[in-house]
Amino acid sequence: VIDTHCHLTAEAFAVDLPDVVRRSAEAGVSRLITIADSLAASEACLSLAEKYEHIFCTVGVHPHAASTWTVEVLGRVRALSSQRKVVAIGEIGLDFHYDFSPRQTQCDVFDAQLQLARERELPVVVHCREAIAEVRERLLTHEGRAVVHCCTEAWDDVAPLVAVGVHLSFTGIATFPKSTIIRDVIARCPWEQLMIETDSPYLAPVPHRGKRNEPSFLSEVLRCIAEMKGVSVAEAEQRTTQTALAFFGLPS
Ligand SMILES: [Zn+2]
Repeated sequence: VIDTHCHLTAEAFAVDLPDVVRRSAEAGVSRLITIADSLAASEACLSLAEKYEHIFCTVGVHPHAASTWTVEVLGRVRALSSQRKVVAIGEIGLDFHYDFSPRQTQCDVFDAQLQLARERELPVVVHCREAIAEVRERLLTHEGRAVVHCCTEAWDDVAPLVAVGVHLSFTGIATFPKSTIIRDVIARCPWEQLMIETDSPYLAPVPHRGKRNEPSFLSEVLRCIAEMKGVSVAEAEQRTTQTALAFFGLPS
């Protein structure tokens, strides 16, 4: 099984990362994709991916950090994106819940990185919070693979995206008792466009809720997906892994 979205270079893992990576392997997580959210994280994610054969990474600037964007940052991200272990541009997107960066800046930085992804023919990992209309408008015309990560949108909001091939990825939030909207989307999303992730160290699934999340907890997300789809955990594992391998172009 593949954790398609975790932040292994986050401060929360600074002390015991080797143990976290070991536990994930013991829990059957065969590959990890560590996700960048800034230029500094892009560099850190790449050096981590170069250290472990089964870790891959993204490079990119998160909407929260959109104000740090400059032409120089674009140049650095572009240069990093040509490295072998870089499998996507991300996480990029729009977050209108927080105003760490002005909305227009977020849009400009998102557009520039969508353009970079097209240029590099890399998929994009998209963060979307309270901005589905603006994200949808862009992804409907984006040429290339895209995933809406940590999808919490309602089916009617994402159905047009699913129709054009955009992928959806689900976290431990799906296991929370109140997440009926998310579980409904899981039930409707085709296997070929459905991926799983922990988004660790954030969003620990039930029964670890409130604690630091880590990739070894991915099995809880997988169990939830299997239940919503009415299949065995083994089948859910095989289906989601196949989709992730294809989406990120990972060696199988
Ligand atoms: Zn994330």
